[in-house]
Amino acid sequence: MAKKKIKSAGNTFGPRYGKRQRLLYSKAIKSKNAKITCPHCKYVGKVTRIASGIWFCTKCFTKYTAKAYDGNLRK
Ligand SMILES: [Zn+2]
Repeated sequence: MAKKKIKSAGNTFGPRYGKRQRLLYSKAIKSKNAKITCPHCKYVGKVTRIASGIWFCTKCFTKYTAKAYDGNLRK
C-alpha cells in the first residue's frame, strides 16, 4: 500500500508525529522560505530569517520583527 505524503513533510519525520503536526510543519516551512517583501526598501526576495521572529534584509541591512515563520508585515 502506498504511503500518503504530506507536502514538504513527506519524508522528513519517518513514521512519527501524524498528519496535523506535518501540515503545521509544512505550512511554517513554506512561509519561512517564501519570497518576503522588505518593509523598508520594498524589495522582494532579499529578506532572510536570522532567528525566530527576527528578519533581516540583505539589501538595505534593515533588521525587524515579524511573525516567527512569516516575515511579511501586515498592512
Ligand atoms: Zn530592505
